Amino acid sequence: MNSVGSLDFPQSFTEKDENTSIPQEYDVVVLGSGEGTKSIAWTLGKQGKRVAVIERKYIGGSCPNIACLPSKNIIHSAKVASYFRRSEEFGITKDNFKIDMQAVRRRKRLMVDGLVDVHLANFKASGAELIIGSARFTGPKTLEIALHNGGIRIVRGEKVIIGVGTHARIDHIPGLPESDPLTHVEALELDHIPKHLLVLGGGYVGLELAQAMRRFGSQVTVIERNGLLAHREDEDVSQALHELCRDEGIELVMSCHVLSVEGKSRQSVKLRVVQGESERILEGTHILAATGRTPNTEGIGLELAGVELTERGYIKVNERLKTTAPDVYAVGDCAGSPQFTHIGYDDFRVVRENLAGHHRVTTGRQVPFCMFTDPELARVGMSEKEAKEKGIAYRLAKIPMAADLRTRTLSETRGFMKALVSKEHDRILGFTAFGVGAGEIMATVQIAMVAQLPYMAVRDAVLTHPTLAEGLVPLFSAVPPQ
Ligand SMILES: Cc1cc2nc3c(=O)[nH]c(=O)nc-3n(C[C@H](O)[C@H](O)[C@H](O)COP(=O)(O)OP(=O)(O)OC[C@H]3O[C@@H](n4cnc5c(N)ncnc54)[C@H](O)[C@@H]3O)c2cc1C
Repeated sequence: MNSVGSLDFPQSFTEKDENTSIPQEYDVVVLGSGEGTKSIAWTLGKQGKRVAVIERKYIGGSCPNIACLPSKNIIHSAKVASYFRRSEEFGITKDNFKIDMQAVRRRKRLMVDGLVDVHLANFKASGAELIIGSARFTGPKTLEIALHNGGIRIVRGEKVIIGVGTHARIDHIPGLPESDPLTHVEALELDHIPKHLLVLGGGYVGLELAQAMRRFGSQVTVIERNGLLAHREDEDVSQALHELCRDEGIELVMSCHVLSVEGKSRQSVKLRVVQGESERILEGTHILAATGRTPNTEGIGLELAGVELTERGYIKVNERLKTTAPDVYAVGDCAGSPQFTHIGYDDFRVVRENLAGHHRVTTGRQVPFCMFTDPELARVGMSEKEAKEKGIAYRLAKIPMAADLRTRTLSETRGFMKALVSKEHDRILGFTAFGVGAGEIMATVQIAMVAQLPYMAVRDAVLTHPTLAEGLVPLFSAVPPQ
């Protein structure tokens, strides 16, 4: 088993401890086994290239182990809890129910173990060699690996691909590091329900976990430095998120700066905060730090490899994801790409094509996102705010989710969908949905956008009734004529 926290890797992946100072030569050395890097390794391995992949802890990277997939797994358990609370509404009476966080965690761990097994099988089938250990550059395209099971190996690649990812940032607030706050990693491993969780940061990591913990029964306070949640989104989106939090019983403390922290997370903590002109104390039992990410680029000898960093510590790359060192590429979060797994995967495509002598760039690609609160918030393309800032003329269509009849069968009518259509031509500029299944509905619109179809193609399509995607027909029927 490979559960997070109990690393027990198959010996075959670590046995080549040769303690030699002569580098072992590979066609490609890949640092990190996240979304972009593992895809490169599997692809080139299958092509018969000699590929080494170095991973220190999470086989397959953050997404399957400690980020996207485990968080969505826990969020789904919380959704079941919310169904239990609402069960009478669906005609099902219950006497009582109890949340067993150890069982919640067990379900998540089982999923993660299964995913790790799939990754190990993929590495084996691809012929790429997975080396478990922590690596640092000692010179151009040369890495020294402190093997997980002891010993050192040195490898050199004709090409090197870096994908070291990011980790949760702990802000420099007096007392915060000492309070031992949870990050998403520990929050997804909780075996108990926090009595009162103080969430630092109202971004998507903070909000997704805030809602899940609230639904398990925690008292939850979200502390956010901006005046609005999702402040870069349109006002109606921010407003809808505020209403959701209010209705879920999540306390929001907005425009708030934390001055200091006292106590220990998991026991009792006090935050001294300033909101506007006034100072106040917020008390809780646990802190979750969700204020941003730091790239894992420090202390790994990048300077010895000629790989330069940006001011914020991300690896400097061009639009083909080439670093400042010849034959060295970087992908994913550490390369400053938008921090999503699907973008890591697209970075893989960019590098794959460039290694094959073709031309593919990151510039101008679609960057869809979905925040997995319940209901979800999904957007692709332009928001109204962005269109206004750029002076792009648009036509707006907006309908409540209740106009999508499937939502009524589900008793999930909260939210809205809106689309921006160009005033000059009929192409779709952007789509936002805050509602049940928003992420799935968005994919349909995205395909139309990729194909540069006029919005009428979606409006006039015969979509199955009653599906959530069917709601796109009333949405695009509401686009004002040119
Ligand atoms: C709680 C949470 C939820 C998220 N949910 C979503 C979501 O729903 N959808 C989405 O698209 N994105 C989501 N993300 C973002 C997504 O997880 C990341 O964008 C993505 O995993 C980044 O992939 P990566 O390959 O760049 O880095 P990673 O997946 O982090 O891979 C880097 C790997 O390199 C290894 N490594 C680092 N340094 C070394 C070293 N020196 N030696 C050896 N190995 C090393 C690390 O152990 C790690 O396995 C979420 C993130 C978080 C934190």
